[in-house]
Amino acid sequence: MQSISPEIIFRGNNAWRKSLPQITKLTKSPLILGRGIHTNNLRNRIFNDLKNQNLNVTSANLEFDCCYEDISRVKNIILKNNNDSLIAAGGGKVLDSGKYIADFLNIPCITVPLSASTCAGWTALSNIYSKDGQFIKDVPLESCPKILVYDHKFIQTAPSRTLASGIADALAKWYESSITSSTIDDGLVQQAIQISRVLRDQLLIDGEKAFTSQFENNPSWRNTVEACGLTAGLVGGIGGEKCRTAAAHAIHNAITQIITPNKFLHGEIVGVGLLLQLRLEAMKNNNKLADQSIKQLLVLMKQLNLPTTIAQLGINVFENNNLEKIADFTCRDKSEIHFLPFEVHKKDIAEVIANFEQQKIKI
Ligand SMILES: [Zn+2]
Repeated sequence: MQSISPEIIFRGNNAWRKSLPQITKLTKSPLILGRGIHTNNLRNRIFNDLKNQNLNVTSANLEFDCCYEDISRVKNIILKNNNDSLIAAGGGKVLDSGKYIADFLNIPCITVPLSASTCAGWTALSNIYSKDGQFIKDVPLESCPKILVYDHKFIQTAPSRTLASGIADALAKWYESSITSSTIDDGLVQQAIQISRVLRDQLLIDGEKAFTSQFENNPSWRNTVEACGLTAGLVGGIGGEKCRTAAAHAIHNAITQIITPNKFLHGEIVGVGLLLQLRLEAMKNNNKLADQSIKQLLVLMKQLNLPTTIAQLGINVFENNNLEKIADFTCRDKSEIHFLPFEVHKKDIAEVIANFEQQKIKI
């Protein structure tokens, strides 16, 4: 079974307003799930618009992350209220929690991404973290959301950092899926990889223009936010489980194990993981193009103010056994790193990271 996309997608300016008749048809007592205070105004608007449609609407907020504590608390609220749908309005963590809870309770999920930081509004997958943001596992879900509302006016209100993060995460699709899945003899997987290549090219062309002028009338901005929030999700939908993540996400998951005072966004960490994956490919798989890719990516990542080392994520790998901790988690048994077509050991990860952090490598 494969769920390729949400059943209905509303996109562009005023997508939210246009989606109201469809939402009203689907649900009578939705729960709106959110998190941060900076999205309060938008969630109030969503709340009031639904109330004006005579829906019996309630709301709840995540306290921490997409974690079991928040999930079970919100699940109980929904059971108590008897909500017949869940509207997840926020970033990746809110969308992932909403999808997970709705899937568990077997009620429809409506996703309303409030930034371009993620394709979580599209996919049938949730990433579970601890309360402190440490990655625990990916959970495949029964289906993609019922309705996805990708309102450009909403996305525009998000901090520019979320767009940069979404670009880094979407770029990783090509570099990860092409190395793990290019030998899979399945037409849809092959086509998903090709879409991820076109997606990367578009981000290389439009990413910086989108970042410097985040306005609806800038075609680069429109293309880029849709690439990050929609096309990246489509790649996951068509490619399914076989169109896999690889080292960039495995290293991301490992980095999140180290708790730091400042939280970084998913794509910001994945971007660093991507550079390390390419370095690993150059070193262990003799990939001569990998250093070229690093050069190309570094130019864009600097333009987007993205971190390019683990130190810039607030972690000194040479302290507190951090290097060992990251290498251990990256190479644990169920890690995606083992989808790479060559063997990777802890010492390889430790070596690549140590060299990278000391910038001994000449790129
Ligand atoms: Zn990701």
